[in-house]
Amino acid sequence: MPAVAVAKRRAKKRAPKRAEAALPKIELRAEPTAPPPKKPATLTLLDFFPQEESQQTRVARFFTELRAGRFMTTRCAKDKKLLWPPRVTCPQCHTEELEWVELPQRGHLYAFSALLAGAPLGMEDELPITVGLVDLEGAPLRLFGRLVGAPWNEIRVGERVRVEPYDLPDGRVFYRFHVESRSVEKPT
Ligand SMILES: [Zn+2]
Repeated sequence: MPAVAVAKRRAKKRAPKRAEAALPKIELRAEPTAPPPKKPATLTLLDFFPQEESQQTRVARFFTELRAGRFMTTRCAKDKKLLWPPRVTCPQCHTEELEWVELPQRGHLYAFSALLAGAPLGMEDELPITVGLVDLEGAPLRLFGRLVGAPWNEIRVGERVRVEPYDLPDGRVFYRFHVESRSVEKPT
């Protein structure tokens, strides 16, 4: 047998012992670790509309009008279909001839729900989060949004709410619904 082959075979036999000897001794210790510092919440909504500038979206006007206190959407100039959210193309006839129209800012609560646990990332400090569906007065739209202005367990279906623009910490603007009255009115 050639000398090289013999050397390899010997090396193989010795390998396990070497491996055992090479293992470092690890001491497992359970050291108490301090919890990470709590960061203040910086997000107040999920990013359905992350970009609001005209360089980024063709419905930028929605945000500039909202900032000025007007609640707008687009309507098809041909078939007059009211669109929500604001669009750049009519999904019915596919025209881009849309016109901006102002929406009413009051409505009635059609349904609501409260998130008591399991907040989306970055919104943990905002629990409970109340959201609802609102029928706008005088417009055939039922809109989804956050509800503020009353504790979740005091809100009732049928309550009057109004659109409320609010500034996000990062400089953007969005809308939510503010519970306006404590008296329940029958939705029409
Ligand atoms: Zn159309």
